[in-house]
Amino acid sequence: MNNEKEIFLRYPSALDIVFVLGAGVSNPDGVPLQRELLPAILSIKEIQNSEIGKIVTEFINDNFKYNIETYQFPQLEAVFGFLDYFIQQNESLNAKYTNKRIHEIKEYLIKLIHFVVNFKTNKSSPYYHKFWDIIHNSQKSISIITVNYDTLLEQAFEFLFKSRAGFIDYCIPLMNYENLPQISSHKFWINTREPVKVFNGENPTPYKIIKLHGSLNWKYCNCCNQTLLTPWDRSIDLNKGKFLGYTYPEMYEYEYKCPIDGTDFQTLILPPSFLKSLSHPVISHLTNEAAHEIRVTRKIVFIGYSLSSSDLHIKALFKKNIQEGTKIIVINPKEKESLILNYSSLSSSAEFIYSSFENLLNDSSILKKIFIEQ
Ligand SMILES: [Zn+2]
Repeated sequence: MNNEKEIFLRYPSALDIVFVLGAGVSNPDGVPLQRELLPAILSIKEIQNSEIGKIVTEFINDNFKYNIETYQFPQLEAVFGFLDYFIQQNESLNAKYTNKRIHEIKEYLIKLIHFVVNFKTNKSSPYYHKFWDIIHNSQKSISIITVNYDTLLEQAFEFLFKSRAGFIDYCIPLMNYENLPQISSHKFWINTREPVKVFNGENPTPYKIIKLHGSLNWKYCNCCNQTLLTPWDRSIDLNKGKFLGYTYPEMYEYEYKCPIDGTDFQTLILPPSFLKSLSHPVISHLTNEAAHEIRVTRKIVFIGYSLSSSDLHIKALFKKNIQEGTKIIVINPKEKESLILNYSSLSSSAEFIYSSFENLLNDSSILKKIFIEQ
């Protein structure tokens, strides 16, 4: 007999480890690094033959020069920075690129990035699976901050969810939690901040995953200002620039619209830019949540993250909130002076380990440093 009851899940007041994951962690599974995104957009046939792909390519050709043969491309943060300049100044570039058109091109370029990042992630990652296995078995209190848009980390969590050993807490209020008839088909996600049903003495762990730059499976409605989580639907129609969903089990394709007000959804990913606007309510909410986790943890472990100059808001976040005595470990495949200097400006006692994400999962001395040593 199922012994069912409702319990509040416990969130510890202090944390053992906060992991900060960068693009280097998803790269082994085929997710492109930032510098590879623009070359991919300008070469993938499906993009080049699509409506929004043609519009974005024309804009780049009109305003930037590049050489595919010598692999010389403009930086993606420069292209976004250029678009953001006209948006922030409320100016037009010329008669062809009016301010309204610039807004559209920015959203199209974000959707192309969405498409490229999603291109190779329709599978389960063995590395992230192992990572979760190690985390869960360590019995440490852990939160994860990530700047990656892809959903490999969450897809690999499935085995812990299915065995009811743990739940994911995205730390944002989701439309999925609302008690409205029109969202009944999206009510599958468990709200870990409310009492949850457990059976036979289960005690699932809530794991915070704070996606500071947004996520491919979040859809934002700027009418009701809410976010819908669609864990399995990340597809985009490159001709209309709309999100696609699929009925189950028939797999009929349909266009996603907000179930509350019928408005088209927007992407919720924060692209790299030299003029980044951080005013999105979801992004500022997540930044505050991350600040709290950084303040209460004993150790911060950065993996595969370069702390680049277009991420000054991340530097500010850590610089403000790292407490004296918090141990900092930086794990990156290659020894680079720029990396050492970047992180040393956050903490003079940062410790550097040179390993890829895949290798550290099998390296007992690194795992001991992360999980056991104080
Ligand atoms: Zn809405």
